[in-house]
Amino acid sequence: MSVIAANLQTVRRRLAAAELEAGRSAGEVSLLAVSKTFPPGAVRTAFEAGQRAFGENYVQEGLDKIAALASLREQLSWHFIGPLQSNKTRAVAEHFDWVHSVDRLRIAERLSAQRPASMGPLQVCIQVNISGEASKSGVAPADVLALARAIAPLPNLHLRGLMAIPEPADDIAAQRRPFAALRALLAALREDGLAVDTLSMGMSGDLEAAVAEGATIVRVGTAIFGARPRPAESGMNPAGAP
Ligand SMILES: *Cc1c(COP(=O)(O)O)cnc(C)c1O
Repeated sequence: MSVIAANLQTVRRRLAAAELEAGRSAGEVSLLAVSKTFPPGAVRTAFEAGQRAFGENYVQEGLDKIAALASLREQLSWHFIGPLQSNKTRAVAEHFDWVHSVDRLRIAERLSAQRPASMGPLQVCIQVNISGEASKSGVAPADVLALARAIAPLPNLHLRGLMAIPEPADDIAAQRRPFAALRALLAALREDGLAVDTLSMGMSGDLEAAVAEGATIVRVGTAIFGARPRPAESGMNPAGAP
């Protein structure tokens, strides 16, 4: 068995154990495999081990990978999870199935306007700056409701819920706090009448805490594909990471 297939098995077991521990149904939480910096061959290996949903952070790298794996396109779902600038929205609208990182109305409006009708609605989450760090992307918690109300009616988007990347924390209690805050924000949107169902939260180091607080999608990179060579800024690792 390949390392990636073995890692996937381990992550699936962690997810199943976390679901059980949280009293949630088996298979309730979706696994998004974050393939950023890894070559198309790594995605193919994960695909052969049964994985179908993949996450990318950098537009050009994602487009290259989607093109390299065009023969699998109908079977895969591609999720854009990185910072998104206005001049890159068209490529994302035309090639991805999901965007987890919408943090302002202008980006959502462009994605809706640029989404090809033939593809059906683009699934989107609003990224929330849940730990309140000045440097991180995401909308402030206080502004989430207004942004969600503005995005929900856009014709070619389907607002699914919220995403966050909290500050890393070592103990499970500290990990759970920001995830609980995101869950409360989603509940507030539902109370407002918005039909949202997705909490995209939890990564390799904190997926158990996220599942305990209601994650519906966990985004896992390192635990599946291995350590990334360095914090990538853009482009695929030419050497074929790691
Ligand atoms: C890289 C990344 C992940 C995966 O992180 P790991 O710690 O490698 O599991 C998840 N979400 C986002 C937004 C990322 O950029």
